[in-house]
Amino acid sequence: MLTVKSLHAYYGNIHALKGVSLHVRPGEIVAIIGANGAGKTTLVHCICGLLKPAKGAVLFEDADLTRLPSEAIVRKGISLVPEGRQIFATLSVEANLEMGAFVHRKDGHGIRRDMDRLLDRFPVLRQRRHQLAGTLSGGEQQMLAICRALMARPRYLLLDEPSMGLAPLIVREIFDIIVKLRAEGRTILLIEQNARAALQIADRGYVLETGKIVLQGDGRDLLAHREVQRAYLGKG
Ligand code: ATP
Repeated sequence: MLTVKSLHAYYGNIHALKGVSLHVRPGEIVAIIGANGAGKTTLVHCICGLLKPAKGAVLFEDADLTRLPSEAIVRKGISLVPEGRQIFATLSVEANLEMGAFVHRKDGHGIRRDMDRLLDRFPVLRQRRHQLAGTLSGGEQQMLAICRALMARPRYLLLDEPSMGLAPLIVREIFDIIVKLRAEGRTILLIEQNARAALQIADRGYVLETGKIVLQGDGRDLLAHREVQRAYLGKG
C-alpha cells in the first residue's frame, strides 16, 4: 500500500500542499481530481521524489520514501507518466522505451523482452518504432509515455493528466488502457482535471482544492456528489 501522511510542500512562500493524506491499496485505481493549480502535480512529484516535502511522509509497503532519490523510488516499483507526456521528441520510439528501463540497464535481455511485449500489445508503436517520437500523434505519444513508464516494471503507476490535450475518443482509448492495466494487477494513481472520465473508472477518488483534500469516496459516489457535479462536472 502507498500512504501519504500529512504532506506539506512549498515553492518559496507558496504553500502548495497543506497537509494532504491519502492511501492507494494494491489493485485500485485511485483518482485525484482538482482544478488548475490545486496541487495535483506537486503531490505526485512528492511521491516520486522529484520534490521534497517540507513536512509529512510518503510510505510504500515497509519503506519510507520521503527522503529517497527518485531512482530509488522507481526501483521500489513506482513509476510516473508525467504531465505533458515529456517524451524525448528527437529520439525514436524504441529509444524512448529504453530510457524507461534505465533502472534495469544491466538486464539487456529483459529489456528486449519487455519491449517486445509492449510493442506486441501496441501495434501502432511497433509500426512506428524507428520513427522520432515527436512525429507521433498526441494519443500515440501518451501511449508511448505509458509504455516508457511500464518499462521500469512498476507495480504502482502514477499518471499525471493523461487526458490533457486529447480528443474525447482518444481519451477513451487511453482510459481503456488504464483499466486493462488494473486488470493485470497494476495499481494506478490517476491525476486528472477531467473529473468525469477519471471517476468513471476509479475505485476511489479524492478532490484536491488549494492544497487540501476536501472530499473523498468511492468513484461512483463522488460522480453523484452535488459539490463535484457543480464544481467539476458543470452541472446544476
Ligand atoms: P495543473 O493542472 O495546472 O498542473 P496542479 O493541480 O497540478 O495544476 P500544481 O502544479 O501542483 O497544481 O501547483 C500547485 C500550486 O503551486 C499552484 O499555486 C502553482 O502556481 C504553484 N506552483 C507549482 N509549481 C511551481 C513552481 N515551480 N514555482 C512556484 N510555484 C509553483
